[in-house]
Amino acid sequence: MSTLDTVRDRAAFLALLEPALAQRLEARRDSACGLWPDLTIAYVNPAWQRFARSNGAGGGFSARWCEGANFLDGVGTPLREYYRQHLAGALEGRSSWTSEYECSSPRMFRLYEMEVRSVGQGAGLLVLHTRLQQRPHEPGLGREPIDATAWQDEHGLIHQCVHCRRVRRAGADEVWDWVPQWVERVPDNATGSLCPPCIASRYPDLAKGA
Ligand SMILES: [Zn+2]
Repeated sequence: MSTLDTVRDRAAFLALLEPALAQRLEARRDSACGLWPDLTIAYVNPAWQRFARSNGAGGGFSARWCEGANFLDGVGTPLREYYRQHLAGALEGRSSWTSEYECSSPRMFRLYEMEVRSVGQGAGLLVLHTRLQQRPHEPGLGREPIDATAWQDEHGLIHQCVHCRRVRRAGADEVWDWVPQWVERVPDNATGSLCPPCIASRYPDLAKGA
């Protein structure tokens, strides 16, 4: 997408909003973005740009979630269909959709709320993120991968929870460890999964469908 297209998209999205709301988005402490019905990112606010620059969500955030990219491409595979359905529901205006998610860094635990609502009679979606909690991780949490094979399955893959970023210990499916260096940089052989506590606490709909 050219810079000119990006500027046009941005202006077109903001034109869907009440001017006062558009101003609030620009001044907001927390990030917000605007999507077209095909879930292409039309607009990101300054807080979003600051967060992307600080790379606060681990490697690749700014590349995955920039204007012109598809919002779902930044969502881990196990949650992509779940997000697609809820975003489609919000677009049709049945209701806004609110969901909590974790976006921790190697050093800080961070919990956010995402609210998605239809704007311009279904012409777009406004996605508002609000930070609910931020604190250092519990002391002593985290392990260094002295031997990465301790987390590899029989195919050499590391299963990383797309919600909490913990990784599944090989041979002990119920044990998921916090490995800070793999939050900082996702290993090349990682595959997106959901750990049992996150399914139970955050995505009970998925547990029912499984
Ligand atoms: Zn998890």
